[in-house]
Amino acid sequence: MRRKLDMTTETHCWVPGATRADGDFPIQNLPWGVAERSDRQGEPRIFVAIGDSALDMAECAGFGMLAGLAPRIEAALRMPTLNGLMALDAADWTAARAHVTGLLTSGAHSIEKHARRDAVLIARASLKMQVPAAIGDYTDFYASEFHATNVGSMFRPNQPLMPNWKYLPVGYHGRASSIVVDGTPVVRPHGQTSATDEGPPTFGPSKLLDHELEVGFFFGGAGNAMGNRISVAEAAKHLFGCVILNDWSARDVQKWEYQPLGPFTAKNFCSTVSPWVVTLEALRPYCIPGPSRKEGDPAMLDYLRWDNDFVVDVTLEVLLASAAMRAAGTAPTRVSIGSFKDVYWTMSQMLAHHTSTGCNMRPGDLLASGTISGPAKENRGCMLERTWRGTEPITLADGTERRFLQDGDELTIRGWCERPGLPRIGFGECRGAIMPAR
Ligand code: MN
Repeated sequence: MRRKLDMTTETHCWVPGATRADGDFPIQNLPWGVAERSDRQGEPRIFVAIGDSALDMAECAGFGMLAGLAPRIEAALRMPTLNGLMALDAADWTAARAHVTGLLTSGAHSIEKHARRDAVLIARASLKMQVPAAIGDYTDFYASEFHATNVGSMFRPNQPLMPNWKYLPVGYHGRASSIVVDGTPVVRPHGQTSATDEGPPTFGPSKLLDHELEVGFFFGGAGNAMGNRISVAEAAKHLFGCVILNDWSARDVQKWEYQPLGPFTAKNFCSTVSPWVVTLEALRPYCIPGPSRKEGDPAMLDYLRWDNDFVVDVTLEVLLASAAMRAAGTAPTRVSIGSFKDVYWTMSQMLAHHTSTGCNMRPGDLLASGTISGPAKENRGCMLERTWRGTEPITLADGTERRFLQDGDELTIRGWCERPGLPRIGFGECRGAIMPAR
């Protein structure tokens, strides 16, 4: 349900399109991204999304529009990735955000009447978005009880959840080099598969290619020195912001290779992120206390317990369009809809557990939630669950059936937050089309 906005509580933003009720990027959002302008190719810069436009931070700095910000913040905003900004602390992130708010609203620092306004405010559609940070390390979790239970019950009907699952956020160290941005084609991977689980395997293109609906979050602030832990209560200070993430997965490859050390080549070929990093500060009004634990769940160990812990209510939608549908201009079919609030383990717990050994984190490291599923069938965040291993196919708008992804299919994930009395803020899109195996 779309609620009417209370305009009286809003800061007035003069940028066209920024107050559209169904837009992703009102003045309350101000996500950070990195992009190339068409007139500055090969020169990635930091931008802030606003309405249908984006503010070029390096250009702003060149015209003196960042005067008043601490020099370390201005220097970070002139960099070609977000790592410099991520390496600062939450007070600096707040200062940068407040400064940008000032430029885009009608106060003393407004650039509405500035002679160079059109040089710094660029049409968003003209930008070539990039992966927003140089990601040093990437870790993927398995934080949804619904997902873990669904998948577990397919493969281990007698014991869907392993004995450790409710005690620690299960995860694996993923691959940073193959993280790509929205719109990058995904080449169907090759791999070993075994029809019987007992071998011998064959080698060839994966037949069971899948998506995983996830939220990723970037580590920010000073990294912890090796040997030092980050407590669950301190963890939120290190959450720079979130993106949508699609952890493309080759299920047939995964099934043969995952024992005993977990996912490997079934997930190392590509992960797609949405380009705009929505800051924790922007998400704060949409956070709710959490996680919700059921009667009978074990008590959390102390190092994972924090009374003020929270989850974020981000609605997440997965859309699928075949090549034929795209050629005919047919709207994509929705395959699932869920919320990031439905996770069992929080971002703070994932980070606290990750560093519980003294593992050192660095600004720009990316952590991801694992597939987000909810209680209902329509909340299932991957094809494996949604079609129950292919036994309950989905019918697309062109009349064809899908058990897993076919060549030419384009998958789009969208995410947004809504709450009574607050504007909608969104993440933009995380898209990828499947190319044939090479
Ligand atoms: Mn995953």
